[in-house]
Amino acid sequence: MAKALEQTIKACKHCQKKTVHNRTTNKTGLIMFLVHIVLTVVTAGVWLVLLIIWMILNAKIGGWTCQECGK
Ligand SMILES: [Zn+2]
Repeated sequence: MAKALEQTIKACKHCQKKTVHNRTTNKTGLIMFLVHIVLTVVTAGVWLVLLIIWMILNAKIGGWTCQECGK
């Protein structure tokens, strides 16, 4: 699995200002996208529901780290 570094500007509670936040994600790009489509078709949409739930949970967890304070 290829790891990709994501960057975004977010408000940091510790720095009390907007700072650059980093996180690493397991981005596998087009191949994984095709796998998800195939699995969605094979499982009659069940996979898509699981994928959406997983994405929502993942978004809540976040994993963003402030570049300035490391929190
Ligand atoms: Zn910070």
